Amino acid sequence: MENLSNISVIRDVLSRHGFSFSKGLGQNFLINPTVCPRMAEMGNAQPGWGMIEIGAGVGVLTAELAQRADKVVCIEIDSRLLPILDETLAEYNNIKIVNQDVLKVDLHKLIAEEFPNMPVAVCANLPYYITSPIIMNLLESRLPISSLTVMVQKEAAQRICAMPGSREVGAVSIVVRYYCEPKVLFQVSRGSFMPAPDVDSTVIRLDIRKQPAVDIKREEDFFRVVKAAFSQRRKTLSNTLSSGLSMNKTQIAELLERAGVVSNLRAEQLSMQQFADIANALNP
Ligand code: SAM
Repeated sequence: MENLSNISVIRDVLSRHGFSFSKGLGQNFLINPTVCPRMAEMGNAQPGWGMIEIGAGVGVLTAELAQRADKVVCIEIDSRLLPILDETLAEYNNIKIVNQDVLKVDLHKLIAEEFPNMPVAVCANLPYYITSPIIMNLLESRLPISSLTVMVQKEAAQRICAMPGSREVGAVSIVVRYYCEPKVLFQVSRGSFMPAPDVDSTVIRLDIRKQPAVDIKREEDFFRVVKAAFSQRRKTLSNTLSSGLSMNKTQIAELLERAGVVSNLRAEQLSMQQFADIANALNP
């Protein structure tokens, strides 16, 4: 269907199917025609590639991905959208819609079955109520994908892409940077959606690293240290690690000394390597 991001075309197809938006499912559909082609281009949609999308809406991004890549698999939880997508994406024979919750799909199996021997990338305008669980789930399960190009709430993008040592940095920034190189691509105003959300959005790309950013003896230690360090933002490492790792102040002082990290720093002042040094010092 032509002009899928045209507001009157979307209104018409939605009303013919008696569709009403679900706020709970984060249903804000794109109506700005410039956004999806840019996302698809910058998201690695190209000949020979397989693309995974999360949340089809009326298929506006799905169509742009299908025009550029060999195959698109889109995971959409809302079964009311299936007859709509049958109509809007009728001209494409390289799209498969999987009607499931993305957090419950076995993505390793899906990739092996749908994209054998193909490079794969994720490209999606994410439902904002589960942005972090989706991104963390995709990264932690170490899928054979090259990148995630996703639209998220502007503030979430700032946190995800924040540099270690900056004021915006949080546990999510460190964990994301462990697996990927994050990059801010472009901003999208709230008026680009129907219905318009209360927040602006940002498209980011997370390029998966071949090797994690730092060498860690035991990954679970690294994630425990990062989580503990950021658990109380204004407190020093000595305090946050003591409560987060259930160790007394003397043990924490010894740990930080082994790691070569000064104990009165706060988590936001640490580099990736310093988090790694503390994690590795837990098991010398
Ligand atoms: N891609 C469309 C666009 O850009 O207009 C729709 C994006 S809309 C922000 C998010 C989409 O994700 C909706 O279609 C919603 O139904 C779907 N969704 C919400 N939760 C989901 C989940 N857990 N698994 C899969 N899809 C989900």
